[in-house]
Amino acid sequence: GGEKFAQSVVLNEEVLAKVEECNELAPLHNPANLIGIRVCQELMPGVPMVGVFDTAFHQTMPQKAYLYGLPYEYYEKYKVRRYGFHGTSHSFVSKRLAEFLNLDYNNSRLIVAHLGNGASISAVLDGKCVDTSMGLTPLEGLVMGTRSGDIDPAIMEFIAKKENLDIDGIMDVLNKISGVSSDFRDLEAAYHEGNPRAIAACEVFAYRVAKYIGAYVAAMNGVDAIAFTAGIGENTSFIREKILAYFGYLGITMDKEANMVRGEDKIISTPDSKVTVCIIPTNEELAIARETVALVG
Ligand code: AMP
Repeated sequence: GGEKFAQSVVLNEEVLAKVEECNELAPLHNPANLIGIRVCQELMPGVPMVGVFDTAFHQTMPQKAYLYGLPYEYYEKYKVRRYGFHGTSHSFVSKRLAEFLNLDYNNSRLIVAHLGNGASISAVLDGKCVDTSMGLTPLEGLVMGTRSGDIDPAIMEFIAKKENLDIDGIMDVLNKISGVSSDFRDLEAAYHEGNPRAIAACEVFAYRVAKYIGAYVAAMNGVDAIAFTAGIGENTSFIREKILAYFGYLGITMDKEANMVRGEDKIISTPDSKVTVCIIPTNEELAIARETVALVG
């Protein structure tokens, strides 16, 4: 949705033209989605359709969070800025977290860790996203199943020269990393067998998540509750434990038994923990259905 869509909209020709204008920002997603929409229009004439944008929830970020340290003209000319992704999930899970804990969504500091094959974190202050780890593209931020996440940009030049790669070759490297496995279940098994590369991958993954959580505590001057969600966040107790081990300074203590649960709304911190930590299963399909009903129901 770029900067054009801060919420879901009923699709019409004007909206579709704007989505097409965003093709450059999402060359793999928008053209394919537009084909799907056109086909549905043909097969189901007159049936209203709604566009739900994975970037929309993040449009509330302040400028200091979305601008990069690049020439400002690149923002003006090309709209190079942080957009963030997984917004449907961050919106759904942050709302559900507040509801589950009886917090006032509009007066709370929440962090959502969406840890799946793609992974991102968001800081939600008083019901509005104020920062998120993915950027212009989903490549930035956490270390993911196949994406590098944050790196020193100069590494690209260094590797390009060593491996004789052009920019497409380098982008392929950063987006299609493979090692022990991109499936966390394999990685977890290899970790417990003592595979050093799997151990390194899990340590790097958890440490990066912890660094981002720390950053978002700073961004919001504190945090009331943290939610883990998506494939890894909902199912992988040992990674949650590893991440939470960094937050003794925040007064977070984990309830080890509760943490063994998977895939249900659950508090996994102890009652005396200063910050409440939860598993909140995401449900992007339900969130999309709700948005749709709200607009056309
Ligand atoms: P997602 O992108 O949210 O579908 O998450 C996919 C990731 O979650 C993959 O890396 C899976 O290996 C991981 N995952 C899914 N189910 C489990 C599970 N039961 N235990 C550990 N990891 C899981």
